[in-house]
Amino acid sequence: MGYEKIREEVYCQEVETSLESIATNMYRKGLRDLSDAEMYNCVLQMTKNFTGKTRRISGDKKVYYISAEFLIGKLLSNNLINLGIYEKVKEVLAKYGKNIADIEEAECEPSLGNGGLGRLAACFLDSIATLDLPGDGIGLNYHFGLFRQVFEDRLQKAVPDKWLGEHSWLNKTDTSFEVCFGDKKVRSVLYDIDVIGYEGGVNKLHLFDIESVDESIIKKGITFDKEEIEKNLTLFLYPDDSDEAGNLLRIYQQYFMVSNGAQLILKELHEQQIDLHQMYKHAVIQINDTHPTMVIPELIRLLTEEKAMSMDEAIDIVSKTCAYTNHTILAEALEKWPLEYLEKVVPQLVPIIKELDRRVRAKYTDKKVWIIDKDKKVHMAHIDIHYGFSVNGVAALHTEILKSTELNCFYKIYPEKFNNKTNGITFRRWLMSCDPELASLISSLIGDGWKKDAAKLTKLMDHIDEESTVEKFLEVKNTKKEQLCSYIKEHEGVDLDRNSIFDIQIKRMHEYKRQQMNALYIIHKYLEIKAGKKPTRPLTFLFGAKAAPAYVIAQDIIHLILCLQQIVNSDPDVSPYMKVVMVENYNVTYAEKLIPACDISEQISLASKEASGTGNMKFMLNGAVTLGTMDGANVEIHDLVGDDNIYVFGKDSDTVIDLYAKSAYVSKDYYKKSKVIKEAVDFITDKAVLKVGHKENLERLQKELLNKDWFMTLLDLEEYIKVKDRALADYEDRKSWGRKMLTNIAQAGFFSSDRTIAEYNKDIWHLS
Ligand SMILES: *Cc1c(COP(=O)(O)O)cnc(C)c1O
Repeated sequence: MGYEKIREEVYCQEVETSLESIATNMYRKGLRDLSDAEMYNCVLQMTKNFTGKTRRISGDKKVYYISAEFLIGKLLSNNLINLGIYEKVKEVLAKYGKNIADIEEAECEPSLGNGGLGRLAACFLDSIATLDLPGDGIGLNYHFGLFRQVFEDRLQKAVPDKWLGEHSWLNKTDTSFEVCFGDKKVRSVLYDIDVIGYEGGVNKLHLFDIESVDESIIKKGITFDKEEIEKNLTLFLYPDDSDEAGNLLRIYQQYFMVSNGAQLILKELHEQQIDLHQMYKHAVIQINDTHPTMVIPELIRLLTEEKAMSMDEAIDIVSKTCAYTNHTILAEALEKWPLEYLEKVVPQLVPIIKELDRRVRAKYTDKKVWIIDKDKKVHMAHIDIHYGFSVNGVAALHTEILKSTELNCFYKIYPEKFNNKTNGITFRRWLMSCDPELASLISSLIGDGWKKDAAKLTKLMDHIDEESTVEKFLEVKNTKKEQLCSYIKEHEGVDLDRNSIFDIQIKRMHEYKRQQMNALYIIHKYLEIKAGKKPTRPLTFLFGAKAAPAYVIAQDIIHLILCLQQIVNSDPDVSPYMKVVMVENYNVTYAEKLIPACDISEQISLASKEASGTGNMKFMLNGAVTLGTMDGANVEIHDLVGDDNIYVFGKDSDTVIDLYAKSAYVSKDYYKKSKVIKEAVDFITDKAVLKVGHKENLERLQKELLNKDWFMTLLDLEEYIKVKDRALADYEDRKSWGRKMLTNIAQAGFFSSDRTIAEYNKDIWHLS
């Protein structure tokens, strides 16, 4: 028996006695007398104790995954699964009258991320530890996270997300660094969260905080004095950047993160007595999007100023240590900081950035690859590409677009740096934990091997022609739909029909993701039903999305969906046939409830705009069928499952890129040409909607769609309606639909983040 297995056996025996003694110490109570919240705190403490005794993963070379976001979700059930004691804990809790699901509810979800990029970082940490690779995360400990979303008057309101309680997964360390800004010096404190590999060892997520943070400066909503850096630095992720103070604050945050990260890395290398000239043989820094880019000039600064290295040497060594992951081709999302702002916040980096730019200018005449542009703006991605050894996109199509279009001028200089790493998700969270019913059905058919080797899921294809097996998958789906119905009833107060088709779109609210197109479909269906054309089976449309507080049109789309929810659900002619629900405060916890219950996965971004998507993979793994455009990883899903097991529609990325290049898309033309489109768009300001909504928001959204529609909603709307209706019709052939579900699950193994991380290691990190 392996070491990890023996450890699990020992832990299993200890669960009950350990919990008892913690309960006595913490509450002077027996296990039977604890409330759910108290029991949660005891299980939390026990898990931390066990983790403390688990082997720390070590090796000759280590990856530092540095990221502004780690959207880790609740940790209890995943940590218990990875320690191998979930079933045991469940049993012991049951003995004392507790349901493990209720205990899990007591945990607050850490609010350390925003969307896919942050969730990816979390999945990666899980897989790095599971593959037994030495690798730690580096980020910030935001006290109030992004924000908590509440709906008031059918509008999104942002309030602080107070997730940090007295008891949490954070362990305070005595590591602390000084960080100097242009006008002040601050001190950091480091908190660590243990990252437990599945049946494996432990890595760390390092979250830096500022010693002088002050939660009491928050005023109305999520507003606060942006200039009180010593107090506000780690309050929020992505603070409002619509003014100069907000921009400066983001730079303060980014530098605070990377300076602490760089100092931590150098400290660890020093402790191992590594000659810093050999740094790249023992450390690799993966830069997750451009937010941590300043780690490059900061390391160069530390090596030249404090370690007496020459500029040439420092640049060479840092460039061999850093690798960059690109997550977007949206021009507005590529960070450019005015040099003047950097001069205010981090004057010590400015001469280094200018030197990096000077070297680029000396070699390349193409101004598009320069770091500092003619407006004195610093292009952060350009620093990463010139002074990192690897540039990767996150899905095959995305990487191709980077090479051929967005970053083509860089690709021509450094073809060898470019590589693709199609994103993945951890199956521990996105199958074993969120859908144990499905996980055990799978294991009953093909054994347990898929948990460590996801490619084994294809063995499910051997069962594709067994009617009774396909039936079982449909039954699990029904169970998950029932569970979701109870959860939605409790949390949103809406009764859903468990026999309806669950069509789900959950992701950040953004025009390129085209929730507005889905909303127009809903309007279309509503009008059809009003006109007497009833769907064969009731339909349930679920949404979940937060919008950036400064993103006006995104707020307007939320408003429209909430208005439709009100109109549809309260119309006695319509509500027996369809329901609309936008869940409040969509997060990882909610995703884990929604995804297993989904029939149709909406992945309808404008082709070329979604770098990869990972929501699409979670749905596929849980037996939903994708309705999507040929964008991001949808392309790879299509390759894996084939035409019969996915619903594809819309213009392809080449067509879209060409339309942009020629400025040839005119949304009004589509509106004028099509009666269906016209009716749906007109309805946005119909009196029925104005009665429950705000004229200003609705008119603004309608005008946007008619006069600009930058993400080409109307381009694909007619085909979307047609293909979606076909999917709904196909759903009625239950056997055939069950086979589509099973095929999707069987082919999802490729999207395990274990596979992604193995590729990062083989091609970029070379850890062992
Ligand atoms: C997976 C996930 C995302 C990313 O979803 P996409 O559909 O890929 O944009 C965002 N938020 C949460 C909470 C997630 O779990």
